[in-house]
Amino acid sequence: MKSETTFPEQGQGREAIFASLDLLTADDLPNNGRAFAFAYDAGKEIKDIARGAYARCMGGNGLDPTAYPSTRRLENDVVGATLSHLRAPEGAVGTATAGGTESVLLSVKTARDYARRTWPEITAPEMLVPETAHSCFHKGAHYFDVKLVPVAVDPVTMRASVDDMRAKITANTILLVGSAPSYAHGVIDPIEDIAALARERGLLCHVDACIGGWVLPFERELGVDLPAFDFTVPGVTSISVDLHKYAFAPKGISVLMHRTRDIRNAQYYACARWSGYSVVNTTTLGSKSVGAMGAAWAVLRHLGRSGYRDLVSAMWTATQKLVQGIPAIEGLRVVGSPSMGLIAMVTEGGDLFDLADRLTARGWHVQPTYAYGASPAHIHLSVDPGNAARVDAFLDDLRECAKDLPPTVVPPSHVVEMLEGVTAVGGGAGLDTGMMMRELGVVDGKLPAQQAMIHRLLNAVSPGAREALLMGFMGELFT
Ligand SMILES: *Cc1c(COP(=O)(O)O)cnc(C)c1O
Repeated sequence: MKSETTFPEQGQGREAIFASLDLLTADDLPNNGRAFAFAYDAGKEIKDIARGAYARCMGGNGLDPTAYPSTRRLENDVVGATLSHLRAPEGAVGTATAGGTESVLLSVKTARDYARRTWPEITAPEMLVPETAHSCFHKGAHYFDVKLVPVAVDPVTMRASVDDMRAKITANTILLVGSAPSYAHGVIDPIEDIAALARERGLLCHVDACIGGWVLPFERELGVDLPAFDFTVPGVTSISVDLHKYAFAPKGISVLMHRTRDIRNAQYYACARWSGYSVVNTTTLGSKSVGAMGAAWAVLRHLGRSGYRDLVSAMWTATQKLVQGIPAIEGLRVVGSPSMGLIAMVTEGGDLFDLADRLTARGWHVQPTYAYGASPAHIHLSVDPGNAARVDAFLDDLRECAKDLPPTVVPPSHVVEMLEGVTAVGGGAGLDTGMMMRELGVVDGKLPAQQAMIHRLLNAVSPGAREALLMGFMGELFT
């Protein structure tokens, strides 16, 4: 394979290596304020501080906070700041994790193990999860063998239906979930009602504030009218907040908080049944980097509350411009009413995926998203401070791109049926993904400039077929 370049016989100097890395990363999504997804960018100065802090902390190993006392200090500081930001009561505790997915996985694991201890009669635990909640709850269900029962949302507001949640509670229910806000629509679920229901039934209640937990408290300070979602809501037992999103830390840091230490005990794992060192882990990983946590610690200090408030103010202003400006363009609409800069934009009759291609051609990176449940296919925009500064230019381009869109293109039904058929057996094992990707213009892992056809197909098939196709695609990228 390519081992002669990746693992040479003779080592190379740093200049050559760094030059190669610069070349390798040149194709990555640029941080130029034109990416409305993946990037949570607060500018060069923040990145420099994060880089310096990351480098200073990367020698540590979070596996053992007694061998690396700095990891304990950093974690107590970062978790403490997050607890107070979400107005946690005396006695509340938390853990630094590697990201939102790990925080959510652990919230599910905590609920399962808490239930095993508290309600041993429950052998097939269930959790109630709004259909707009992040996919990582499904992953948690899959990994930890907790049944995920989907909860309907209001098709207009996209908020979870508490009536549906109430109706779906059974003797096996252990956990109720709400988002603050949901990723796709930026909408805060009725957390007060969900938590009240949990309290009434003596259940656990997790608020997934992974994406919004850092932003919303500053919005509230700025006078934005928001429904309650934090620890001041009675009945909320845990909250997750990602620092590697809108706290602008590099990837690899999130915080999972619990109302009591007793609940958190169900998150921990210990094992003394092998011949090596006795293990006690707070999270899923063993050896773990402290780099991102150190960087988060540094960025929090550098920006301070006032620095974040200013950034949040700019993002909120831009969000309002988008929420008003998008529906002012003929043929476009926003789904629901976002509480922060997470926007789902839909077309009315015009081809959505063609619109996405046109925006890409003008240098904007947006996120085409497929229909699921009550949520229509849409273009997702996550607004960061870099985008906020360019929102007028974006709206100008959007206006141009939305002109004369072709009507929505529906893939031929025989193609959709073929894809359903071939993915229905053996998880799509018989599918020639490589050939299919070549046909669709994917070369060396790079998507073609025109992606509308790919998105139309994925949007048209069932979630199961979509999953099989995407797994085949991913496998093709790593061989
Ligand atoms: C991003 C996100 C997650 C998952 O976080 P990762 O950091 O990508 O693992 C969970 N919930 C919500 C609402 C999110 O936006």
